[in-house]
This record gives sequence, structure tokens and C-alpha cells, in this order.
Amino acid sequence: MASLAEVIHETRTVREHDPTKFVSSWTEKEVLDGEVVDAFVLILRTRGCYWARKSGCSMCGYTNDCFTDVSEEDLLKQWSQALKVYGKQPVVKVYNSGSFFDPNEVPPRIRTIILKDLGRMCQKVVVESLPQLVRRPILEEAMRLCERFEVAIGLETANDFVRDRCISKDFHFDRYLEAVKVARRCGVSVKTYLLMKPPFLSERAAMVDVAASARAIDGHTDTVSINPTNVQRDTLVDRLYRKGEYRPPWLWSLVEVLKELRKSKARVMSKPTGGGKRRGAHNCGHCDWLILKAVEEYSLGISDWLDELDCECREDWENYLLVEDMGRCSVNLERFLS
Ligand code: SF4
Ligand SMILES: [Zn+2]
Repeated sequence: MASLAEVIHETRTVREHDPTKFVSSWTEKEVLDGEVVDAFVLILRTRGCYWARKSGCSMCGYTNDCFTDVSEEDLLKQWSQALKVYGKQPVVKVYNSGSFFDPNEVPPRIRTIILKDLGRMCQKVVVESLPQLVRRPILEEAMRLCERFEVAIGLETANDFVRDRCISKDFHFDRYLEAVKVARRCGVSVKTYLLMKPPFLSERAAMVDVAASARAIDGHTDTVSINPTNVQRDTLVDRLYRKGEYRPPWLWSLVEVLKELRKSKARVMSKPTGGGKRRGAHNCGHCDWLILKAVEEYSLGISDWLDELDCECREDWENYLLVEDMGRCSVNLERFLS
């Protein structure tokens, strides 16, 4: 029988891209010193996450985008284009569909050039990395060059069994804790991504897992970002979704988890990718926009009206949880009942 890693590897489709062009950029809202400010988000195109090249995670669409070889010169071209569209936002997030600290994705010379420029340009820099690539010398350099620096880590869950069997990531919780310790010693802040509803978990099990994970890392991380799974093309999750064996989480589940985590020391937020769409976290289609607005305002610390949300579909969600519990399964019940 094929392993989960082998099935994920077989599922992807490789797409080629122009290595001199960055993937995308946009401006979004972020919190800095308690104020809502603009953040410039840049997705650099690199050769991609080493784990995605080898196997990849069950929900990650980056496995489809990472086979273009990108030279140092290509990266410099991308960076100079990015500087032209940068609009003086105080926070800059430089992502690369993998790890900013992986020298095979962003060579050290390019990393230093980018960080030097960013240190002159903005107040806070955010990058993403796998925990096993978080190293003290790199963080010390980042702190020398930038006023404030944050590393975002995709832990997904504090439960090693769920991470191994449902997501297929190649590190354990201990490794995450070590990375956080190193970051804190260097004065680097930490944002942790938790995945809400990996495949093979029921809706209720997913709520329990994400809430327990957030509690397990409270006190370690500065921010917890709850990322409800969205179904990305040519992933294992997509394969299950198309067979009717996976439903992205309900927005009600997200609301309940956020309410449960109100007392966390860390800032708990969520920005559901594809929220309100069939492949993203969604409810009935009528109340989705209002719920997403409430989640956004809650996440930015503007207001908290999560308790006031209501819709007829809340009862459907409650029944969904009950029926899944009785059936002891996580198939997409809506597909079979409609
Ligand atoms: S989720 Fe992260 S570690 Fe997993 S394949 Fe995607 S980029 Fe790599
Ligand atoms: Zn509704």
C-alpha cells in the first residue's frame, strides 16, 4: 500500500513559470503596536519548498508550483520589480511558498540584500519558514538589519499524530518549540499557523484539535493564525473533495473556536483563504460575508461581535456535527444528502 507521502507526491501536477517574475503582491491590513496598518505582501518565486519537492503536505498547492529553477539573478530581478510596486507600507511580508531561510530557495547573498533594503524601507518584516530551518545566526542578522522581525511557522497542529497521518509534514512539535526558543532569544516575534480541518478529521475533531493546539502554544507564540483548509487544486485534499470525501470547515466552527480562545495570551486571528466559497470555509452562502466580516474585525482587534452572529444554517451545522459523530466518519455529508 502506498504511504500518505507517496499519494501526495503522485497527486500533484507540475506547472512551469517565468523565474524572473514574482508570483504576486497585494496590500492587506495588519496590526502593528495595536494599530491597524497596511502590510505589503510579496510572494517571491523560488525553486520552492524542499519538502514539496520531495513529498509535500496533503493540503498544500505549492507542490504544483515549485519546479522552476530560479537563479540568484532571477531573484534579484523579481526583487527590483517588487521595489517598484512597493507603496511604503509599514509592514512587509516576504513569502516564497516555502522557507525564506532555506539557502536553496533564497541564497544567503540574496537574503541579505532583501533584508538590508527592507530594514531601510519599513518598520516590520515578516517571513515564513519551516522550524528546522530557523537558525540563530540568520535571525541575528535579520535583527541587525531590520527594526522588527517576525517569523511565521506552519505548525498546523500541536498533535504529532495528526501532523504525521493527516498532513504529512516532516517535523515534530519539539522541533517547533526549539525554533520558537531560538527566535525569542534573538528578539524575533513568532506567528504560528494552525490548520483547521486537515483531511480525515471530522468537523468536531478538527475544532477540538485546533483549539487544543492553540492552547498548547499559548505562551510560546505571539500570534496564532487559524487557517481553515481551503481546497487547492491537485492536492490530496482536492482529490478527496472531488470524491465527496472532504468538506472544508464551516465558518460556524471557526467562530466557535475563536470564541473559545478569547482568553489566550497570544493574539488569535484568522483570515480564511477562499472564505465563503465552496472550496474554502463556508456556511450556507447567505450569512458567509457577515461572518467573514466579523472574523476580520475580531482578528484586527477592531470589534468583537462573534456572539451576535446567527443564521438558520447554524442548526444545519449543529446537525452536521451530530450526524458525523454518529457515523464516525468525515465524508462530505452535504454531497450525499443533496
Ligand atoms: S505546507 Fe509548507 S512544508 Fe508543506 S509542502 Fe507546503 S510549503 Fe512545504
Ligand atoms: Zn447561513
